[in-house]
Amino acid sequence: MKRRWFLLLVWFLSFPFLAVGPQQFPPLVVVVDAGHGGEDPGAVVAGVKEKDLVLDIVLRIFELAGEGPVEVILTRATDRYVDLKDRVKFAEEVGAVLYLSVHVNYSSSTYVRGIEVWVDNTRKPDDPSWKLAGSVLRALVAETGARDRGVRSQKLYMRHTKLPAVLVEVGYLSNPAERRLLLDTSYRDRVAKGILQGIYDFLGL
Ligand SMILES: [Zn+2]
Repeated sequence: MKRRWFLLLVWFLSFPFLAVGPQQFPPLVVVVDAGHGGEDPGAVVAGVKEKDLVLDIVLRIFELAGEGPVEVILTRATDRYVDLKDRVKFAEEVGAVLYLSVHVNYSSSTYVRGIEVWVDNTRKPDDPSWKLAGSVLRALVAETGARDRGVRSQKLYMRHTKLPAVLVEVGYLSNPAERRLLLDTSYRDRVAKGILQGIYDFLGL
């Protein structure tokens, strides 16, 4: 009788751990943002809107993350605009370990193509955002074969959080070849896979 109660207690206590899997408790939360949305389409070329492409890519990242070691939370899963400061505030509220925003680029020159990862220019050299930017850029270029345009820095709204934060420009809508690729679902899958791999690499998973 006593042994039965003991086993029942062991089962009960172990349940929350079993429920989230053996590797992580609690799971690491990562916030992934689709840029623009709603009344803000972002770049628009030949009827293709940045807000739609990036929403599709973040939904793929969410799917790919599945039962993996990190819990991906999206700032938007539909075509709506979210205030920029609210996006990073949301990441802090849900206890995220990092914030990553996905964008598609535009240039007046149709020749410009490739991937860039941006970090806010107030971040110090020892800020982990730089390491995150490098990890995501490396994995993304390896997965897609796209041109590596490097880690760059400018004034970004990510200065409103202390979380490691980057803005990923996954390609140029203004470049016809890259636009064709971005309109291809299997290419967007590779973009999603590359970004997620970069996040895993940064977290040492
Ligand atoms: Zn954008």
